[in-house]
Amino acid sequence: MTYKAYLKQLKVPTKDNPLRVLVSACLTGIMCGVSGDSNGEYPSVLKLLKYNTLKIVTFCPEDFSFGTPREMCDIYGGTGLDVLNGKAKVLTNTGIDWTEGMIKASEKMLEIAQKNNIELAVMMDISAACGSQVIYDGNRYAENKIYQIGKGVCGAQLTRGGFKVISQRDFASLEMLYSKVDNTHPIDTKAKDHNEGDWYMEYFKK
Ligand code: SF4
Repeated sequence: MTYKAYLKQLKVPTKDNPLRVLVSACLTGIMCGVSGDSNGEYPSVLKLLKYNTLKIVTFCPEDFSFGTPREMCDIYGGTGLDVLNGKAKVLTNTGIDWTEGMIKASEKMLEIAQKNNIELAVMMDISAACGSQVIYDGNRYAENKIYQIGKGVCGAQLTRGGFKVISQRDFASLEMLYSKVDNTHPIDTKAKDHNEGDWYMEYFKK
C-alpha cells in the first residue's frame, strides 16, 4: 500500500480516540539537537501540535544513547537498513563508532512505537537516526558531500517493524494528515512529498 493510500484509510480521529503519531523530538521544538538546539523550526510539523485529535509521542534516539550536546554522526558504507544488517557503520565526525548505540536507540524507538501503538511516525529527514527518505552517504562535512536515498537507522528500524514513516518534508502526505484530523482543512493538491520535489528529482535524476 502506498503512503498516501495508507493515510487515506486511517480512521477519522476524535478527542477520545486520537490518531497516535510518533514524532522526532526536535521537530516539536525540544532542544535535543547535537548542539542543544531544536534543528530549526518546521511549521509543517509544529502545526500538528495544535490538534486535540492527535496523540503526539516524542523521542530523540540520539539523546537517548549519546546525550545532548553530542557529536554529529553519519552512516558510512550504506543506509540505516545496512547498519541494522551489520553492513554499514555509524561514525561521529571525529571517527568514534556509534553503531552499537545507534542500534540500541533504534530498538528503544521501536519499543516506544509498539507500546503506544502508533499509526504513523513523522521524523526529521537527512538525520542518520531519524532520516526517512534521504540521508548523507558518509561525512556530511566533506567538501563533496553526497546524499543517498535511504532511511536513517531508526527510520529503518520502525519501517522494518511495520510502521509508516514520513518526514517533515513530505508535504502531500502531511496535507492528508491535516485533513484527516481537521475536516475543515482544504487539501493543497499542489503539495508534494520530498521524493516528488524538484531538488530530489534533479539530484537523483529521476
Ligand atoms: S536524533 Fe532525531 S530527534 Fe534527535 S535531534 Fe536528531 S533528528 Fe532530532
